[in-house]
Amino acid sequence: MIGPLRRWRVMRPQEQRSGYDVVIVGGGVHGLAIAYELAKRGVRDVAVLEKAYIGAGGSGRNTAIIRSNYRTPEGVAFYDESVRIYERLGVELGFNVLFSQHGHLTLAHTDSAVAGLRVRAEVNQLQGVDSVVVGVDEIRKLAPALDLSDRPRYPIQAALYHPPGGIIRHDAVVWGYARRAAEMGVHVHQGVEVTGIDLAAGRIAGVRTNHGSIRAGTVVNATAGWASTIAAMVGVRLPIVTHPLQALVTEPLKPFLNPVLVSATLHVYVSQTDRGELVIGAEIDPYASYSHRSTLSFMETSVAHVLELLPSVANVRVLRQWAGICDMTPDFSPIIGPVPDVPGFILDVGWGTYGFKAGPVAGRRVAELIATGQTPAVLAPFSIERFATGSLIGEKAAAAVSH
Ligand SMILES: Cc1cc2nc3c(=O)[nH]c(=O)nc-3n(C[C@H](O)[C@H](O)[C@H](O)COP(=O)(O)OP(=O)(O)OC[C@H]3O[C@@H](n4cnc5c(N)ncnc54)[C@H](O)[C@@H]3O)c2cc1C
Repeated sequence: MIGPLRRWRVMRPQEQRSGYDVVIVGGGVHGLAIAYELAKRGVRDVAVLEKAYIGAGGSGRNTAIIRSNYRTPEGVAFYDESVRIYERLGVELGFNVLFSQHGHLTLAHTDSAVAGLRVRAEVNQLQGVDSVVVGVDEIRKLAPALDLSDRPRYPIQAALYHPPGGIIRHDAVVWGYARRAAEMGVHVHQGVEVTGIDLAAGRIAGVRTNHGSIRAGTVVNATAGWASTIAAMVGVRLPIVTHPLQALVTEPLKPFLNPVLVSATLHVYVSQTDRGELVIGAEIDPYASYSHRSTLSFMETSVAHVLELLPSVANVRVLRQWAGICDMTPDFSPIIGPVPDVPGFILDVGWGTYGFKAGPVAGRRVAELIATGQTPAVLAPFSIERFATGSLIGEKAAAAVSH
């Protein structure tokens, strides 16, 4: 049953308290989803502190691809739970998040890429995820605009087809979570920057901000591209390097492309939004930086690669391009959970180029961790300790270009 839909009204500022049970640093999808899920569990003395405006980070800059066809059993189980939450999120939040499950096609242009997709399909199917390798005839039915001839440099040989994949309206997700959390008593403070974290007897005691100090027994780091700067405030060095990631959008066209198309060989992906624009992205910029500048070389190379896939869009105009920053881990998997040396400090970071789709499951499970003190099984593989034990969760094959 769908309740009344909430309106896109400006959120009223709340008065900042001198202390909260839980302070969440970062007002992106992760911070806001954790806050909402805590409130659902009855933990309502919670503040989200956002230095700019909610959705100012990756959550308002991503290309909004949702999918669960990852490479490792741990990753597939985790992202699958998120897709399932997303399927009901609009109803749950009473906010239209425009989730369009038009399917997701990962294209293979080489024999080794086909072999890789077969392994992924097996892993996906063993976890009950709808994902299958399809040949050129099936691809033609799913995406007739693709150049499936042998003219391109790298002719398409096969694809991994993942029907539940699709795109969502990212700002609606952010605003839906923020609004519901605020209605349930959570404070969402925009324009409040955390500048330091206080410890007492080795455990978290509060945060310092540009609007004064706030006491808190638990502090969550949900700052994605800025995660290392927050961790450094308690002397923790994360295995994370921050890289820019760019995207661009064209003028709107009549609907002609249902599935999201990804080509790891060409380092490009493209989808058509419900408004008709083509959204185009690629892999991270090859240098570490906190810069949010876009570059001409990104536009030239990514558009050239799209034209190898979809030659018919040659005369379409690009409207704008932008960049965000991504917290890359060595194994392309996130870092979630407590930090043993700093009681009260919780990580929800390492979201790289793929973290928007994970907001709902991370929010639900990190809230469970905070409320119960127990690490949920689905989070356990992603602890920071894996970098000491060597139990890495290698997702590069499924997450490097395909976000
Ligand atoms: C171009 C691009 C395309 C992408 N495409 C996809 C995709 O298709 N699918 C997908 O799943 N993911 C994608 N991603 C990745 C995804 O956007 C991120 O992983 C995700 O949004 C991270 O969410 P978050 O809530 O953890 O962090 P963010 O949304 O980045 O929020 C962190 C917030 O912390 C705030 N902050 C930082 N420092 C402080 C401080 N000291 N005090 C207070 N606040 C602070 C920032 O202002 C920011 O708003 C893409 C990213 C980019 C840049």
